[in-house]
Order: sequence, then C-alpha cells, then structure tokens
Amino acid sequence: MSDEQEVITAIKAPVFLKYNFTAGKAATRFLAQIKKGVLTGQRCPKCAAVFVPPRGSCAACGVATEEEVVLADKATVQSFTIVSIPIPNNPIQPPYIIANLVPDGANVSFIHLMSECVNEDIHIGQRVQAVWKPQAEWDYAMANIRYFKPIDEPDVPVDRIGKLPVTGLEG
Ligand SMILES: [Zn+2]
Repeated sequence: MSDEQEVITAIKAPVFLKYNFTAGKAATRFLAQIKKGVLTGQRCPKCAAVFVPPRGSCAACGVATEEEVVLADKATVQSFTIVSIPIPNNPIQPPYIIANLVPDGANVSFIHLMSECVNEDIHIGQRVQAVWKPQAEWDYAMANIRYFKPIDEPDVPVDRIGKLPVTGLEG
C-alpha cells in the first residue's frame, strides 16, 4: 500500500440555516407603514438624500436619519435584468424582469419585480406603479407590492432619475 493519499480539494456540504431577523428601529418604522400600504423613506439631515428602505443612517454622510418621508408608489426604472434562468425554489418562471426602481421623492432604488409588460419593451427611465396585493393580505413586508407595471407617463431623462418630487399621492 502507498502512503500517498488522494488530495481532497472540495466537498459538498449543504447548509440550511433558519434564523430570526431583528429589523431595528428604522426598518421597523418602514415595515409598520408598508403594512398600512404606505411606502416611506428617511431623509438625511445633512445631504437631504431620501433612502428607501431606510437603514437609519445616511450611507454617504454617516449620520443618523430620523425624518420620515411618505413616498408615492410610482417609480422610475433605473436599471433592469431580464432573468432567463430558473432559480431553484422560486415560483416565478422565467423569463421575467427584476428592476432597480427609484420611487418618486427618493434618491435611491430598491429591487422589485415587473409585470403586465412586454419584457423587451422595458427601458431605463420608464415610469411604473406598484400593484398591491389585496389589503387583507398585507403584512410587514415589501411583498405587499405584488409587482410594478408600466404606466402611461413620459420617460424620465437618465440624469433626472432619483431627483423627482413625490407624485401620485393625490389619490
Ligand atoms: Zn447624507
């Protein structure tokens, strides 16, 4: 017998972790509002940028954010991806669109699903609006918004994305 052993360079070791996430102060306020169907951000007292979902501090200035800002559920497409590869355990079948959307009145985007659209027609600067689940299903989750759909409003020029006032709060 040889003393040489085969070198093991990798093993498969699937890991399943179940854990509870403590939202924290800023996210708790955000989630309490979205349970009521209201999208909110927080404004930085130093640079005035509005973050959504709020993290409790400004990523640029490093200062705490306290001022809550009610946002519209209208947004602008900042970037997007057409997903063509199925993701394990994801009930949504490809092809579908995931987009970075900047809600009016905010300066940063969040990621959400697009629907009621022709995938190939989605473009940067396109105006979209949230399609909410029925109110009885609302929970402490962004999933209260089922997806965003295109709306008949003029495109936003690229250099204006993330700089729009809040619209769509009139009803
Ligand atoms: Zn700031």
